[in-house]
Amino acid sequence: MQNYKEIWDSALKILQNEVTTVSYDLWIKSLEPIDFKESILYLSTTSETAKNRVLKLHYENIKLALKEVSDEVVDFKVLDPDESQAYFNVLNDAVNETKTTSNNKCKFIEKFTFDNFVVGNSNKYVYAAARGVAENPFSKINPLFVYGGVGLGKTHLLHAIGNYLRKNNPELNVLYVTCEKFTNDYIEALRSGKIDSISSFREKYRNVDVLMIDDIQFISQKTGTQEEFFHTFNDLYQNQKQIIIASDRPPKEISTLEERLKSRFSMGLIQDIQTPDIETRIAILQKKAQQEKFSVDDNVINFIAEKCDTNIREMEGILSKVSFYATLLGKPKATLEDVSEALKDSILETKQNLTTDRIIDCVCKYFSVDKNDLIGKKKNKEIVEPRQICMYLICDLLDLPLTSVGQIFGGRDHTTVIHAREKVSEMIKNNNRIKIAISDLKSMANRN
Ligand code: ADP
Ligand code: MG
Repeated sequence: MQNYKEIWDSALKILQNEVTTVSYDLWIKSLEPIDFKESILYLSTTSETAKNRVLKLHYENIKLALKEVSDEVVDFKVLDPDESQAYFNVLNDAVNETKTTSNNKCKFIEKFTFDNFVVGNSNKYVYAAARGVAENPFSKINPLFVYGGVGLGKTHLLHAIGNYLRKNNPELNVLYVTCEKFTNDYIEALRSGKIDSISSFREKYRNVDVLMIDDIQFISQKTGTQEEFFHTFNDLYQNQKQIIIASDRPPKEISTLEERLKSRFSMGLIQDIQTPDIETRIAILQKKAQQEKFSVDDNVINFIAEKCDTNIREMEGILSKVSFYATLLGKPKATLEDVSEALKDSILETKQNLTTDRIIDCVCKYFSVDKNDLIGKKKNKEIVEPRQICMYLICDLLDLPLTSVGQIFGGRDHTTVIHAREKVSEMIKNNNRIKIAISDLKSMANRN
């Protein structure tokens, strides 16, 4: 059969004349053919919004164009980034299950490269570490343990390592899986009850040069998964294979993680990704706009970067949406007006007030304390209690790693945050004044 990438290229030529230039540039051009299987062409998009737009506006056009250029393609599917990732995982499995000694075909998301990763103060160390591992695998950085909040680029970096190795060391077996996949594979192997299944599970995970496990915080305490992972880890480590792990929090904060694994993880480098500062957020949005050929005003980028300060995925989603609204109105460039339209039903709208700053302000107001004192070093009771309550509220209301919460409060250790959280939880049970204060503060913080 024809190469599916060629089929898509021919379809694109037709589509170019069938849809408006803006639609073509915005939605169609960025689709990427990633696989062709059982008469279905799989196309990846850069965001969920893009996927919805393509399906809503251009499903028929694309289907007709494909029909025109090939008899073999009966239908197509559009996958958003999460779905593409899941799809690649399944593909990797299929490849591994053919028991090739070289599972070279493990696919990585093409756009998740080092070149596409914007480096700033929040991520320069983790970037350097990931790049170091990619350029020099099997050296001292083993395992590399990367952690940070949701949507800050951990998966991007893992795929960047994969893409880099694929290009520069194609002979290496590189396997990327999510922790969930690892667990399911293991349970599946156990369930079948055959010795063969367990051996092929082990062969799959131990017969690699580089193993990357994403989202390790989901590791389950049940069914011996940790036991199996521990042995996989030791086997690879002893054979000087490279291990890379990502998590939303550091090992010591993963409550389900066994001590012996925590200590294994600390044999290498544990490196965090912080939330990006405003300059980095602007640079990421500019890069994204350039990549996706979105035409947006600078002040739109600044506005989104300012509003959305904790999750890059969410920030990128808003940019796509804004650009989409501008296109709908036939505008050559997205302006601030389009932002308010795009944000109407966005999670940001309800969440935007809920930042650490907002919570700190509320606490300061409520207890009449000065912000600098609250986040500073003073140890008198009038300050310590509001400070602990503030830490508690930030942990409770926002999805932040404890270390980041510690950072906000003058670089305190995460154990201080844990202590504050526990203390306040205890006080809520026994002290009515505190209980009321917490409830008041929550409604204050959530008020628009
Ligand atoms: P995580 O795995 O940490 O939840 P992802 O790696 O999936 O986050 O990143 C979410 C989105 O943000 C992706 O589209 C990714 O490309 C983008 N992103 C994150 N950090 C950066 C960065 N520094 N430069 C460019 N894009 C980034
Ligand atoms: Mg991820």
